[in-house]
Amino acid sequence: MPRRRVVGGPKVVHRTARVGLRLTARQRQRCFGLLRAGGDVWACVLELNGWRHRRQDRPVVSYQELCRLLAESGPGTFGELDSAGARSVLRRYADAWFSAAARRKAGHSEVRYPRRRRALLPVRWYHGTFRLDGRRLRLPNAAGHPPLYVRLDRLVPYPPDTIRSVTLLFDGGRLWVDVTAELPITVYPPGQQPDPARVAGVDLGVIHPYAVAADQGDALLVSGRAIRAEHRLHLADTKARRRATARRAPGKGQRGSRRWRKTRRRARLIEGRHQRRIRQAGQEAAKAVINWAVQQKVGTLTVGDPRGVLDRPAGRRHNLRLRQWQIGRAITVLKDKAELAGIVVHLVDERGTSSTCPRCRQKVVKPRGRTMTCKQCMFVGHRDVAAASTIATRTPGGATSTPPTMGGVLTHRRAGRHLPGAGPSRRDPRRRPPPVTSGSLGRLRPAPPPTVRSRSSPHHQDEEPQHHHPTGAR
Ligand SMILES: [Zn+2]
Repeated sequence: MPRRRVVGGPKVVHRTARVGLRLTARQRQRCFGLLRAGGDVWACVLELNGWRHRRQDRPVVSYQELCRLLAESGPGTFGELDSAGARSVLRRYADAWFSAAARRKAGHSEVRYPRRRRALLPVRWYHGTFRLDGRRLRLPNAAGHPPLYVRLDRLVPYPPDTIRSVTLLFDGGRLWVDVTAELPITVYPPGQQPDPARVAGVDLGVIHPYAVAADQGDALLVSGRAIRAEHRLHLADTKARRRATARRAPGKGQRGSRRWRKTRRRARLIEGRHQRRIRQAGQEAAKAVINWAVQQKVGTLTVGDPRGVLDRPAGRRHNLRLRQWQIGRAITVLKDKAELAGIVVHLVDERGTSSTCPRCRQKVVKPRGRTMTCKQCMFVGHRDVAAASTIATRTPGGATSTPPTMGGVLTHRRAGRHLPGAGPSRRDPRRRPPPVTSGSLGRLRPAPPPTVRSRSSPHHQDEEPQHHHPTGAR
């Protein structure tokens, strides 16, 4: 429930950070207890409305009515879960039900009301019910149970007085707390605020997640090399892991074997880590764009939206690349950060911008490499920056109708600097260190096939020496 705000107060946005937990075994158990209790509340509402449906009664869906029923059920019905936490589950149910109802009313008859039980359900506590001191978080519990103290694995990136709620959840094989803060939109000292009349075009891409060109001629290129490397290494790792597990597959139905459970859990954890890395790198890329825009006092970003291209089949390899690109997220992240910085974002059609000369606006042959060359006006420049300048001219309202000047300062930034293998300072644990011997080691050969027998006896080798030396060099 959003709070009532003072009319004319400072504009705010809500932002959420996911923070891991450092837990003892007992704390972990209690956290899972709370999530399970959340799932019980959810299942209880489903069950109740199931009965009512069979009796042809009206379902109980409004938050107030559900809260009344919760109060009637009395304390201790849902284990350690207190009423604030239980009510957050009811709020979730009511929101899901009403949004489904609204969409059904709009003609989407395939949308269904909430009906699936879940073992664990995120539980949220609002401002005033929890306490956060540095990394120590105190979660309330039902009357008669001591409060639960947990330790966060990093400091929350928001000022303490802006934090509005915390949500306990289980995702990707780990327990997390989502901390939501209410942040005021950045206020700049006079003369330093972004100017809405200064426009920059943004071209989204795979090689460069963001290429930005301001109408004054300065440009920014954010490299996504580290992100692509992470995708590739992750794919290679996943394949290697599959091969490894397939080789030592236990027989079907080895009783009491936990091997598959362990393998699946490990795969889930690694997958979660990969997703977090990609997300983090995406956030960094968008942050680089916004920092640059603030520095340039650019107040309007016009983003070329290429989502039309995603419908077209582009071959197996390129399709995978497009799917990993996560274009919607790149736009959302940029929009969120721009909003907080007080920068306006427009989405425009980007069709044809990578094959249009930014200076004379003539069609050019779509460049194969990174450089665009125009035969008419002899323009030579970076393809993505050129596309970004053309996108800037499509700003609604025609803020920039004159062809932009090119050839200002080109800034380079890299996204995902923290990823393994992104820089020489950090060694990728999955890669071999470079060979220390000088000189050539000869032609690269494929690795020898894995030996089936791990303990090969010297006796066995002596049996067929000619097999190892077919040329008879002995
Ligand atoms: Zn030209």
